Amino acid sequence: MLIADSFFDSDTWALTRNLAVFFVVVFWLATAFWVFKDARRRIEDPWLVGMAALLGLVPPFVGPIVYLFLRPPDSIEERRDRELENRALEERISQQDLRCPVCRGQVDASFLVCPVCTTRLKQACGSCGSPLEPIWQVCPYCATPVPPAAVGESELLQPLRMRRTS
Ligand SMILES: [Zn+2]
Ligand SMILES: [Zn+2]
Repeated sequence: MLIADSFFDSDTWALTRNLAVFFVVVFWLATAFWVFKDARRRIEDPWLVGMAALLGLVPPFVGPIVYLFLRPPDSIEERRDRELENRALEERISQQDLRCPVCRGQVDASFLVCPVCTTRLKQACGSCGSPLEPIWQVCPYCATPVPPAAVGESELLQPLRMRRTS
């Protein structure tokens, strides 16, 4: 008992206690700082980041654990990447969905003729040969004006084979 009393009154005890308090405070601030950094990476709204930082600070140690349960599952960057991926996928799907109006075969936007049924899909630019949309007045690739009847309306969407035999 006497030994214990003298130990708790001693400078060693005071030093140990101060060091312990110091480390607890440092650990507390470190966890709060980690919450702030993590929140900034995951949350876009600065108000919510502020709230998360406050939660990381108080209550000490419990706040960061609560934050761990509430935080968004992925970072802003990951969400943005996924959005871009989805958009690229949608674009790819919509491109794949281009179909020949006659045989429903898959065609590319750059095709002049359907490779399956040889239907003429688009007219080619007289200057650079690029495929032109029917409503275009000018070729967007070489700026050559599209003559109104370079390829007659009747020739579009008609199989090439028929043109050759007639
Ligand atoms: Zn076709
Ligand atoms: Zn052209």
